[in-house]
Parts: sequence; C-alpha cells; structure tokens
Amino acid sequence: MLWHRFDFRESSRIVVLLTREHGRIQALAKGSHRADSPMLGRLDFLNDLNVRLSADRGGLRLLLRADLLRERRGLRQALRYLAASHLVELGNYGFPDGLPDPELFDLIHGGLTLLERCPLFAVAQVMLGLELRFLIHLGCLPDIEHCTDCGTPLTGGAFLGSDGGLACRSHAPSPKKALPERAFDQLRRLSLAKGRELPELDLVPLSPTAVALPMQWLSRALERRGRLRRYVFDSALAQHHVDSTAGRPLP
Ligand SMILES: [Zn+2]
Repeated sequence: MLWHRFDFRESSRIVVLLTREHGRIQALAKGSHRADSPMLGRLDFLNDLNVRLSADRGGLRLLLRADLLRERRGLRQALRYLAASHLVELGNYGFPDGLPDPELFDLIHGGLTLLERCPLFAVAQVMLGLELRFLIHLGCLPDIEHCTDCGTPLTGGAFLGSDGGLACRSHAPSPKKALPERAFDQLRRLSLAKGRELPELDLVPLSPTAVALPMQWLSRALERRGRLRRYVFDSALAQHHVDSTAGRPLP
C-alpha cells in the first residue's frame, strides 16, 4: 500500500510503502514523474500495489516496478479523505520502526475499505470504532464494562474514573461525573462490534462524550494529539452525524 510519497529532484519520487510482512519500506521511484513512466498514475496515496524492489543493500532501494491492484477512489470524497488521513496518522504513531505488524496493517487496510465504502453518515461512527480497535491493539483501551477500581460491572451507571478509565459510583473521584447513558451504550457497542459491523450500528447522531473520551485515551496512549481528528468529527457534525455539542470539551 502506498503510504506516503515525496517529490525527489525533477522527475523522481521517494515512496514509503506499508506492507503486511515487512512493515514500512522506503524506496526511490526513479523517473516516475515522467510522462512516459509506466508508474505514472499508480503511485497515489493509499493505492494497493504489487511491487518489485531492488535488493536490500542497506541504502535506499529502488522501486523497479509497481502494478496497481486497487485504487481507493471512494476516498476522494472530503470527509472520507479526512478520516482516512487521520487513520494513517494513527498508523504512523502505532507502527514500530523497521518492523512488521500484520495485525495493525490489517486494521488499517480493512479500516480504509470501511471508510471508503460505508454510507457517508456512518463515517464518524466507523472512525470512532476504528480508534477503539487501535487502542485495543496498543493495549490502551480502558475497560468499558467494569469499574477500573473494583471490577464491578458498570450496569448501574458509569462514571469518569481517576485514571482516564471508567468507574462505578463508589470509586468515582469527586466531583462525580456520570457518563451519559447514551455515550456509555455507544462506546460499549462500538468496542464489541466486529469491524465490518461498524457501518451498520445505528448510532447517529453520536454522543459528544462518546466522541470526546477516545480522544483523551488516544492522547494518553500516543502522548500527542492527532492533528486531523477534530476536523473529521467537525465535518461529521456539520452534516448532523454528531450531536451539536460534540466539539466542546468534557464537562
Ligand atoms: Zn468500583
């Protein structure tokens, strides 16, 4: 999959490929800008490619050949493109340098397909579900079903816990902040659904708290804020796929 590309000199490009078995690989696509290059039009963002590279001699490898397996045309729509770019940004933080991570590759690759094909109104909920999956992959998703402190099932209502997780009423730090029932229900359903079920969950409009909490968990896990996340959910909000209070911070 073509992950990034940069212009290099007049007519060449440096490409970063994301592969299932070898992780990220950087290569030089010589002359790929030229009008007669067989690679012209193939080296586009997130295209699936079948490639042949020069042998690995420690330096920059050459991209000798690139066959197009799939273009992600659906991602040209603005909201889908934003969401896909946000997912790529998460992948950048999550991918170990120089190492493969087939599980994360599948999450991103499958996630892009969902973002490309789901109904437009479902982009925000799919994105949120992918974020939860990403957090699970990193081992950073707080337990959504049980109190972080005593392990009691949160059937009697969930509260914000002291460590960013969820707590029962007795273990919630004061002032106790209850999670709106709808947010709790949406997060639970998103975390339990299989990837391909994400577009079908009937969650629109999303609860602002359900949108805000994963951002806190992601910031904590990655020690930074995604640059694009806000725009994804703001665009969804503009199209009424998120409640109008979603842009505000948690109370
Ligand atoms: Zn408790």
